[in-house]
Amino acid sequence: MSQLKVHNSYTRQKEVFTPITPGHVGMYVCGPTVSGESHLGHARPFITFDFIYRYLLHLGYKVRYVRNITDAGHFEEEGREAEDKIAEKAKVEKLEPMELVQKYTNLFHWAMHEFNNLDPSIEPTATGHIVEQIGMIETIIREGYAYEVNGSVYFDVKKYAAHYPYGKLSGRVLDDLLETTRDLDGQDEKRNRQDFALWKAAPPEHIMRWQSPWSDGFPGWHIECSAMSSKYLGEQFDIHGGGMDLQFPHHESEIAQSTICNKHIPARYWLHNNMITLNGRKMGKSYGNQIKLTELFTGTHPVLTQAYSPMTIRFFILQTHYRSTLDFSNDALQGAEKGLKRLWEAYELLKKLTTGEIGVEKVTGNGSPATAADPVLDDHVRKLLFELDEFMNDDFNTAKVLANIFELVPVINSLKGGQINRDAISPDTLLLMKRYFTDYLENILGLKGESSGDDHKLTGVMELLIDIRKDARSRKDYATSDKIRKQLLELGIVLKDEKDGGVSFTFA
Ligand code: ZN
Repeated sequence: MSQLKVHNSYTRQKEVFTPITPGHVGMYVCGPTVSGESHLGHARPFITFDFIYRYLLHLGYKVRYVRNITDAGHFEEEGREAEDKIAEKAKVEKLEPMELVQKYTNLFHWAMHEFNNLDPSIEPTATGHIVEQIGMIETIIREGYAYEVNGSVYFDVKKYAAHYPYGKLSGRVLDDLLETTRDLDGQDEKRNRQDFALWKAAPPEHIMRWQSPWSDGFPGWHIECSAMSSKYLGEQFDIHGGGMDLQFPHHESEIAQSTICNKHIPARYWLHNNMITLNGRKMGKSYGNQIKLTELFTGTHPVLTQAYSPMTIRFFILQTHYRSTLDFSNDALQGAEKGLKRLWEAYELLKKLTTGEIGVEKVTGNGSPATAADPVLDDHVRKLLFELDEFMNDDFNTAKVLANIFELVPVINSLKGGQINRDAISPDTLLLMKRYFTDYLENILGLKGESSGDDHKLTGVMELLIDIRKDARSRKDYATSDKIRKQLLELGIVLKDEKDGGVSFTFA
């Protein structure tokens, strides 16, 4: 099998993945800012780094996956300044800022579980790591790359850029920072407009505040990721991930901070997923076309004609390579919904196909393995399966993985339907196909059957009714047994008494 190669944004090359400690992987992914509801823009990075995490586990690595929660700093919520809102509400409801943070953290966790994302190994919060952030800021000041003004501390980007390569990750130059700075960043206090805040003195109305050597205030956004990643993964770790929009200035700033504190860049491989567009347009709060995940799951956003399940969205995201842009639209989601249904039905059929059905007696007959009746088809199936590993090893190409799996769907349907003889493929190949489908669909891509939970409940209810009816009949209470049969029939469920005394049911 080939080695895993990943596209490293830092070198702009695909590189063989070699972890710092053999057998172990440290991965840090920038988490959400929990000042509002999770939206579609959150879906892609966290699903992407979930299948990357799952694939690393599948390869046998012991992975420590750290994903932070940004719950400190200057928040905006629902288009308004969250702090104003928090302060305003606090007067009437005595609402704690941490209450809002908790509410949106809970909502975020709920959405991640709906997407079937595995929990990270550690989920540190910015507010829980103020001490570590202050420690790092002190080091940067001591090294001469940060300065204090009126209780706020700024990173001296211009001085850094004079001594270290700046902008290597994002390909941006120092002047680009001018475009991203806002008035609230305290322009008048900075030596240069490009400098960014490590610590901000809090104005009196600011509720979230902590003591520091410089002022009562709150940390800048970039420093939290540097402090928490190095605390849990070491001064240098394997993978740093996030959306492409975080490359600049966030990740570029993380690199600068860690380079000053630890003398080297924090991560060896920088992985970034590309962005989502909506009907061909960039998506975001400023474009007025952001879809909340709750609106997506319930179909209550004006651009949607129906609700889309979390698995449809996950599947849709998996169908495109994570470094390509992905356009969401109502039509595309409907296509994904149909595709996933077709795929999952074939997978359910495959699970029911037994080696006995395809002529396993040939194995037991003379002790030698059965050969496929159609060696060309057999080889073709094996080739499609083995390629799945090659595709994932080639920078996690889930799009190609799904294309190959889809090529196998008609084969499975024909084997089950009898259009292809059951012994056309060998029992070994069938077992291989089952193993690959489960490994890839469930364990690596993280898909799951959506109605399985409800189906399970329905089966339980039906078994209960059949039992009650059986008891009634044994008591010669035919009124009750007939009532159950008749009312089920009205619901379109047909009970059938089998010859062996059992009862089965079908949907009319
Ligand atoms: Zn971050």
